Amino acid sequence: MSMIRRRISRQVIVGGVAIGGDAPIVVQSMTNTDTADAAATVAQVMELARAGSEIVRITVNSPEAAAQVAAIREKLDAKGCDVPLVGDFHFNGHRLLKQYPECAEALAKYRINPGNVGHGKKRDDQFATMIEAACQYGKPVRIGVNWGSLDPELLARMMDENGRRAEPLDATEIMREALIASALESAAQAVVWGLPAERIVISCKVSAVQDLIAVYRELARRCDYALHLGLTEAGMGSKGIVASTAAMGVLLQEGIGDTIRVSLTPEPNGDRTREVIVAQELLQTMGLRSFTPLVTACPGCGRTTSTYFQELAEKIQSYLRAQMPVWKAQYPGVEDMKVAVMGCVVNGPGESKHADIGISLPGTNEVPVAPVYVDGEKTVTLKGGRIAEEFQAIVAEYVASNYSAGAVRKRAPKHIPIKAA
Ligand code: SF4
Repeated sequence: MSMIRRRISRQVIVGGVAIGGDAPIVVQSMTNTDTADAAATVAQVMELARAGSEIVRITVNSPEAAAQVAAIREKLDAKGCDVPLVGDFHFNGHRLLKQYPECAEALAKYRINPGNVGHGKKRDDQFATMIEAACQYGKPVRIGVNWGSLDPELLARMMDENGRRAEPLDATEIMREALIASALESAAQAVVWGLPAERIVISCKVSAVQDLIAVYRELARRCDYALHLGLTEAGMGSKGIVASTAAMGVLLQEGIGDTIRVSLTPEPNGDRTREVIVAQELLQTMGLRSFTPLVTACPGCGRTTSTYFQELAEKIQSYLRAQMPVWKAQYPGVEDMKVAVMGCVVNGPGESKHADIGISLPGTNEVPVAPVYVDGEKTVTLKGGRIAEEFQAIVAEYVASNYSAGAVRKRAPKHIPIKAA
C-alpha cells in the first residue's frame, strides 16, 4: 500500500465532483476549441470526458463564447455527459459573467486569474464583480495565478519592499513569494466579499520544475485551501510529460495536490486526450488512484529481433483502455489488474508471474512459443500466428471470471490505492 499521506485541505464541490478533503485526486483538462463554436467544443469536451477527465475547463473570452456556454452545457447533458465545465476568464470576465447570466449559471466553477482582472481601483471592482457572481450563483472559484501574468502592481510593491531590506532576497525568491501572495491575498479578499473558503481552490502555476515544487510546498504550508496542481506551459511531447511528472511527482509524493492538469502542447492536429491519459498514468503509477489496467512491458533489447512484442504490448494496452468505459461499470476493481507483456525468457516468466496475467514472448533463438501466466501459474503456451488474439481472449476471460459481481479473486490485489491521509 502507498505510504503517501495527503495534506488535509478544505473540500470544494465542483458540479458534484469533490476536490480536496478526503476525495481522490481529480483529473482535469482543458479544451482548445473556440468556445463560440459550440459543436466543436461539445465534441472535444466529450472526448476528454470519455478519456477520463473529471472536470473540463473551457475558455470564456468573448461575448460570442459566453453566449454559447449554456447551449454547450445543454447539448452535453442531452448526450448524457455530465462532466462539470469550468469557465476560464481573463480581462473581461466581470463583464461576461454579468451580461450572460445563463453562462454564469451553466458553469460549475469560475477560474479567475488575479493578474488579469484589471489594474488599480478597477482591479478590485472587477474582481469583486466576479466574486459576487460566484456568490449569487453558488459557484466555487479557482484563484489561478500564473507567473506569465503575475499581477504587476503586486510584484512592483514586493520588489520595492525587498529593496528596502538590509539583506534583499534574490529575484527568484521574490517572484515565488509574489505568486503565493497574489493567490492568498486574492483568496482572503474573496472571503471578505462573502465567498466561503470551502468554495475556493488555489493554483500558482509556473513553467520551471523547481519553482513549482518550492511554490506549492510553501502554499501547502500556509493555507488549507484545496490545491490545483500543474506545470504551466509544460511543452510538447516527452519534454512536457517529463517536466510535468517530475514536478508533480515530487509534490504528490509529499501529499500536496487535490486536482491535477498536465498542460501538454499537442502536436498539430494531435490528440487532446493525451493530457488526460498522462495525468491518469501519473496518479496510477504512483499508487494514488487506479483508472485502467496498466501493461508492464520490458524495453526489449538484442534478444528481441522483431517488433512483435512491442506491437503486442501496445495492442493489449489499447484494448484495455478501449474496454474501460464498459468494464468500469461491469467489472468493479478491474482498473487495478496488472498485465505483463515481456520480450524473452530472461525476465519474462518472473515479471509475468508478478502480474495478474502475463505473457512471455520468445526471444531470439528461443523456441517460438509464448507461455501465459495467470495468477502466478503457467496455464497455457501459445504459438503460431494468432498469439495476440488468443492472449486478448484470455485477458477478457480473466476479467469476466475475476471481476464480475460476486466473483472471488484467487489472489488479493497487490496495490491498494489510497484516498487520503
Ligand atoms: S526481458 Fe528479455 S527482451 Fe526484455 S529487456 Fe529483458 S532481456 Fe531483453
